[in-house]
Amino acid sequence: MGEEAWIGLGANLGDRRATLESAIDALRVLPHTRLTARSRLYRSPAWQASGPDYLNAVARLSTGLAPHDLLHALQSLETHFGRLRPYPGAPRTLDLDLLLMRDRVLHTPELTLPHPRLHERAFVLRPLAELAPDLPIPGRGTVAACLHTVDAQDCTVWCHP
Ligand code: ADP
Ligand code: MG
Repeated sequence: MGEEAWIGLGANLGDRRATLESAIDALRVLPHTRLTARSRLYRSPAWQASGPDYLNAVARLSTGLAPHDLLHALQSLETHFGRLRPYPGAPRTLDLDLLLMRDRVLHTPELTLPHPRLHERAFVLRPLAELAPDLPIPGRGTVAACLHTVDAQDCTVWCHP
């Protein structure tokens, strides 16, 4: 039996929709991993940064990978999809964040769980709430409760133009 893990996906450069759909397909074939749910695509303005709007989504995995191994797999996928890191917050073709793994709490130099900014970002919480409003975020209450505190942030379901 795999462990439940939640991934946040974001893109604000290039063909954002194609990148997110390809990235979700890549998550499906990670070793020891199954994709068990995915949200619709959402649109949000660049967060505390300049650049084009983001498209965002979340995916739920069932995985036998350990947290750091899953993080490294996500980072390889970011690189595969052309992610450069010229400066913090720079626009990116693909951002993959490990949001939550069950009730795990981790503070290592490389990996913090839950993701440290998850609870204050509507572009993560709104797609999460589509799939799992009652999901507990360790130390923060449920997804729905966190979303309530950031409900004014601009983030809406994206309809393909
Ligand atoms: P951001 O997503 O905050 O814009 P990056 O994607 O460039 O920034 O990630 C910065 C660093 O955050 C990575 O080098 C990674 O080691 C670290 N990090 C810590 N916790 C996590 C997590 N839960 N998910 C993804 N990256 C994380
Ligand atoms: Mg990231």
